[in-house]
Amino acid sequence: MSHQTILVTGGAGYIGSHACVELLQAGFNVAVVDNLGNSKYESLRRVQQITGKTLTFYQADIRDKAALTEIFAKESPSTVMHFAGLKAVGESCEKPLLYYNNNVYGTMILLEVMDESNVRQLVFSSSATVYGQTSLTQYSEDFPLGPINPYGRSKAMIEDILRDLSASDKINPNRSPWKVALLRYFNPIGAHESGLIGEDPNGIPNNLMPYVAQVAIGKLPQLSVFGDDYPTPDGTGIRDYIHVVDLVKGHINAITALNSDAFKDGGCKAYNLGAGKGYSVLEIIAAFESVTGQKINYKISPRRAGDLAEYFANPALAFKELNWKVEKSLNDIVADTWNWQSKNPQGYN
Ligand code: NAD
Ligand code: UDP
Repeated sequence: MSHQTILVTGGAGYIGSHACVELLQAGFNVAVVDNLGNSKYESLRRVQQITGKTLTFYQADIRDKAALTEIFAKESPSTVMHFAGLKAVGESCEKPLLYYNNNVYGTMILLEVMDESNVRQLVFSSSATVYGQTSLTQYSEDFPLGPINPYGRSKAMIEDILRDLSASDKINPNRSPWKVALLRYFNPIGAHESGLIGEDPNGIPNNLMPYVAQVAIGKLPQLSVFGDDYPTPDGTGIRDYIHVVDLVKGHINAITALNSDAFKDGGCKAYNLGAGKGYSVLEIIAAFESVTGQKINYKISPRRAGDLAEYFANPALAFKELNWKVEKSLNDIVADTWNWQSKNPQGYN
């Protein structure tokens, strides 16, 4: 395992930077490719501060095929962890071309370079948003897909491309097979326990946890709770929140699985990464108030378009095949979010 180089696209971002910490601590060499479009190099400086180890950083766009080809030649990675992408649902509805270009076309270029460089091992950041609507609230990997916005469709398209690539192995027996883990994240939140790296959203956050954290610290006046008339016990929406450090540990386990006998003939498999348990918006607010001692000012507002009442992961497959499950509690998540937010009120600025 050690001395393998992992190429991390989007490694300067929220989840990617936490992945770099775990990879370095597990003894891997790390090369990051990031265009810094939604991140700052400071996150990677802090990754190296936390671990006492160095990584190699390339400021490049994954759509730049010449740059990527050169990086692959230099680094000879064994595996690519592919986090680079745009992720704001609302923005994807406004600018679908931007999302398909960055996420789908960008991944196409990455896959071409991987194929041409004979690097066919990939851990991909997919999302629970690829699932279609169903009457069930606990999602398993074999549920039908049916995303409802351009962001989710970009992830589902990439999954399709990867399944097609893997299926093409049979008729290309003379090359090494594709080994792909599609990791479908539920709601990643929290921060590294050091308080040195965390989520640093641009402008006003869209997501619940960074919003609550900014209300707690006084940067934002009030949280809007989007709907209290859902068919849930307290009427507010329920999601499966997962600590970002638990999430990235799932990626390390995925590398182990891809390197194991289970994948010796190749394959492309999806795994849910979630806790398997949901919390409501009001439960999140209560946890934040109890951990931080701060009152969270909120008001009940209309539902947000596109939101479902409740969903959470069935994480059994990841437990069985990746030997992975969440370790951290909601209180850990809130405490680490608060530690990061209060030590870095302006994020990385
Ligand atoms: P992030 O924006 O913090 O990180 C993404 C990183 O990719 C950024 O550093 C950005 O600069 C970089 N990037 C984007 N496009 C690029 C390009 N064309 N070339 C090079 N670099 C590029 O987001 P995150 O929360 O860390 O998410 C990482 C991945 O996980 C994304 O693919 C996202 O869609 C997926 N995901 C995130 C969540 C979530 O709630 N955060 C949930 C499900 C899936
Ligand atoms: N939410 C909320 N107020 C906010 C942001 C989110 O009430 O300012 C609710 C939202 O309706 C959902 C939950 O919090 O029920 C999680 O939302 P988030 O945007 O974090 O994740 P997603 O819904 O995209 O999974």
